[in-house]
Amino acid sequence: MHYGELKKCDIANGTGVRVTLFVSGCTNHCPDCFQPQTWDFDYGKEFTGETKAEIFAELDKPFVNGLTVLGGEPFEPRNQRELLPLLREIREKYPHKTIWCFTGFRLDDELLTDGSYPRCEVTDALLACIDVLVDGRFVRELKDISLQFRGSRNQRVIDMNKTRQTRTITIWDQLRR
Ligand code: SF4
Repeated sequence: MHYGELKKCDIANGTGVRVTLFVSGCTNHCPDCFQPQTWDFDYGKEFTGETKAEIFAELDKPFVNGLTVLGGEPFEPRNQRELLPLLREIREKYPHKTIWCFTGFRLDDELLTDGSYPRCEVTDALLACIDVLVDGRFVRELKDISLQFRGSRNQRVIDMNKTRQTRTITIWDQLRR
C-alpha cells in the first residue's frame, strides 16, 4: 500500500488532535475530486514498518485522540487488506483512542452488500475496527462548504458503534451541521 501523506496534529478530520493517513488509490473518480493525484495506487510513498512506528509514536501521545484514515480510497479492496492488520493492532494497543475513516463508498448498499465492488473477505472485520465512518462519494451538485467533516450533502458521518448496537445506520450525534 502507498500513502500520499501522514499528517500529525490534524484537527480537521475528526474529533480532537489526530494522526491522519492518506492512503493512495481510488477508482471512484468523482467529478471535481479535490485530490485526483491520489487515484493512482502508486502515488506517494510505500507504507512500511517505519510508517507504522511513526503512527504509533503519535498515538502514544496522551493528547492525540486517535487515527483517521482518508484517501484516495481506504475501502478499495486492496487497501482494505493492508489496513486491517494495522487497525486491529491499534484497536488492541489503544482501546481508548478512536478510529475515523472516510470512504466514497456507501455503507449500506455497497460495503455491506454482497456482490458490490468494494465488499471483500475483510470488509466486515475492517468496519468492526472503526468508530466513525464518513461515507458517500463527493457530489459536485450537492457541494456545501459549511458542512462539518463532509464536502457534499449526500455524505454521512456515521456512528459505527451505535450502528452496530441498533443495526440501523445512526448518524454521529455530535455533528454540528
Ligand atoms: S472518493 Fe474521494 S478520492 Fe476518490 S474520487 Fe471521490 S473525492 Fe476523490
